Amino acid sequence: MVEIMPFGKHKGDSVEQILLKDYKYFTWVHPKVSSHYLRERFDFVEYVSNNFISKESCSLDNNPAKHISVYHGHDNYRGSSIGFLYCSNDCFNTDPKVLNLKAILEPLQFKTALSSTKFDTNQLVGTMSEYMGLKKGRKTKEYLEEFFNNIETYKHKEENKLIGRFF
Ligand SMILES: [Zn+2]
Repeated sequence: MVEIMPFGKHKGDSVEQILLKDYKYFTWVHPKVSSHYLRERFDFVEYVSNNFISKESCSLDNNPAKHISVYHGHDNYRGSSIGFLYCSNDCFNTDPKVLNLKAILEPLQFKTALSSTKFDTNQLVGTMSEYMGLKKGRKTKEYLEEFFNNIETYKHKEENKLIGRFF
């Protein structure tokens, strides 16, 4: 069942919609949610967004991409675009595409997207959503719920406990 936000500026949106539309708000409101099922969904969706396995591999080889090159411009601008994923610092440093750019290699996780402005944050979230396998365009709440339920994630020791709770 889709979990719907019952209050606040995204009242009526599903948890997945809030993550994708307004990640800054998502991270702010998440700890304030006390209703049980809603909180579990926030926990789950946040977990997926920070542990997903990219559908795209490293730009230079076929290794799994765990890092994204984030460009830092003036006025604290942060952004990225499709095709700047890397498995390692070595690949990042040898890619001729990134030479001379003010780019920093960062983890491929939604929390990396948090930026000084909502615009930069959402732009990075949009790029990362594509790496998750989400196609562009309007999606129903039901589609997004199903999509998040089926994303492959890295399973670390303590996070296995979390997975157990949800599946
Ligand atoms: Zn590589």
